[in-house]
Amino acid sequence: MRLDTLFQQNKLTLSFEVFPPKTDTALEKVKHATEAVARLHPSFMSVTYGAGGGTSQYTLEIARNIEENYGVPTLAHLTCVSSTRETVRAQIELLKAAGIENVMALRGDLPEEMKGSDRSHWDYRHATQLIRELKESGADFCIGGACYPEIHPESPNQAEDIRFLKEKVDAGCSFLTTQMFFDNNLLYNFLYKIREAGISVPVVAGIMPITNANQVERAIKLSGSFMPQRFKALVDKFGHNPEAMKQAGIAYATDQIIDLYANGVNHIHVYSMNKPDVAEKIQSNLSAIIHR
Ligand code: FAD
Repeated sequence: MRLDTLFQQNKLTLSFEVFPPKTDTALEKVKHATEAVARLHPSFMSVTYGAGGGTSQYTLEIARNIEENYGVPTLAHLTCVSSTRETVRAQIELLKAAGIENVMALRGDLPEEMKGSDRSHWDYRHATQLIRELKESGADFCIGGACYPEIHPESPNQAEDIRFLKEKVDAGCSFLTTQMFFDNNLLYNFLYKIREAGISVPVVAGIMPITNANQVERAIKLSGSFMPQRFKALVDKFGHNPEAMKQAGIAYATDQIIDLYANGVNHIHVYSMNKPDVAEKIQSNLSAIIHR
């Protein structure tokens, strides 16, 4: 199912993200985890893409498996920044051949060795270029793009970030998914600003349940997200106790999601990654809300 059709139905959606294995040997374990998430029958599942990584073919394999064997719509991620035009075009042909309908078009993070180098001769510098490539491919993909309520870390300011976001949407995005955030007010402010800038596509709110204390530092480094005092207190208090931290992290994420639904944000994407137990718990915490 195309996600633009799903979003038009005006129902609440709850979706989960999974990621492919980093090594070939981990494939079976990862498949097992993604199938367990698929058995929850979320609104859709997204499968990330290891930028420039050697296991990128598994994104497609996992997405097809989920869709064909579990009937869950999938969103296959694709990145471009460390790839050549030939590699990206070949990947697009594979997506077409596999009948993938939904593609999350991303730039990808710059590998360390590429940071600070002259970008003028790169085949792709921004996700917008990948979106144009997908549009010109002859397939009618439903394309999503990433957005950043707290500004992309490389952007000098929010006005410029939103200007380029508008360009990205105009290139052919049917929806946007946000980077994780831990304070809903940041999303509400962001939505106000992008709507004012003329961006009207659905925005899917990305929520990361922090289920162990080690994730906190990684999450901040990755996203630059602001951690509210309420959240810090919870990590301080329960961070040393894995079971308690997991319970508190899931409760915090659930609370965020309920507030979002209550305030008219209808589409929530949970970065529960390859943890079916976390996805299951969040889904069951919301059972009466999403099936109302
Ligand atoms: P872009 O939209 O290209 O934006 C990157 C920066 O360039 C921004 O600062 C933007 O303002 C600026 N910019 C855009 N256009 C222009 C222009 N024309 N001129 C000058 N500046 C411009 N990474 C992965 O490797 N694999 C994944 O599967 C993956 N999934 C993700 C899913 C979501 C929902 C999110 C939020 C991120 C994901 N990422 C993934 C991480 C993502 O690749 C990084 O955040 C990356 O740094 C930016 O990607 P982007 O597509 O947002 O880039």
